[in-house]
Amino acid sequence: MQLDGMHHVTMITGDAQRNVDFYADLLGLRLVKKTVNFDAPEAYHLYFGDEHGSPGTILTWFEFAGARPGRAGAGMIHTLQLGVPSQESLDFWQTRLQAAGYSSDRSEGSLRFADYDGLGLELVVANPDNAKLQAAHPEVPAEHAITGVEGARAYIGRPVEVDVGLLTATLGFTPTDTTGAYRLEGPTRTFNWAYDPTTEHGIQGAGTVHHIAWHSTDADHVTWRQRIADAGFNVTPVIDRDYFNAIYFRQPQGILFEIATTSPGFAVDEDPAHLGEELRLPSQHEHLRGQLEQRLTPLTNPRTKITTEA
Ligand code: ZN
Repeated sequence: MQLDGMHHVTMITGDAQRNVDFYADLLGLRLVKKTVNFDAPEAYHLYFGDEHGSPGTILTWFEFAGARPGRAGAGMIHTLQLGVPSQESLDFWQTRLQAAGYSSDRSEGSLRFADYDGLGLELVVANPDNAKLQAAHPEVPAEHAITGVEGARAYIGRPVEVDVGLLTATLGFTPTDTTGAYRLEGPTRTFNWAYDPTTEHGIQGAGTVHHIAWHSTDADHVTWRQRIADAGFNVTPVIDRDYFNAIYFRQPQGILFEIATTSPGFAVDEDPAHLGEELRLPSQHEHLRGQLEQRLTPLTNPRTKITTEA
């Protein structure tokens, strides 16, 4: 039983339209689902990824309109590492970000910047063993398009030892050094997970990460739940999130972990050619549609402006 790297990472934003403009229009990811936070349906939940919304590419945001900026601190992810095909791709992105008014910091194999909410991002040359899972964007050639999420770094306020057992013995991560750097090597994708010490407390708000989900096969999901419970963690029952099943638990560094399944995926309730174009609501909130369509800010999806070839 192996986790197949990361499934998705979920953040908070204060502005859904800026979120779409930045991730779909500027970074060239595809908005693959426009839905609401199942636990708080007055808030958008937007999903971005490759053309299919494949696990390993998915970045999601809860919109709390007008949310104040947060700050990453102990027990919070502070940087997401997105893969690109080559060093030349980093030059392409530096130029593209600059033209949109975003400064970035280029070094060997890396381009660091922050999104409009201040979320830390880093483009890195992707691990060649990770499949290139890309979205199509008319201004981003495939030779430079983002290929999936390669890793994440989190701040920790506790010793690295406190969650080493969970990560290695329970979840199957491999330490790559002694300072809290790990690799999660799955059957199809590898993910880099690393820690930076801090004494600062974080503030959850716009531009911060809410949780990270690891990717399980459908068949293994309940066994993962049992294994995590047996290791002494307070793990939720399996929750149906419509596009995958999920379990959640708070790990010893304070970071919220989720384990999510492959199926059914984002094409379960939308034509794959039109993912993310209409507001999708889970059945328990469908009766709120009229009210939600009034309250939620209308979004312009760049994809619907693109003329797709037949
Ligand atoms: Zn999640």
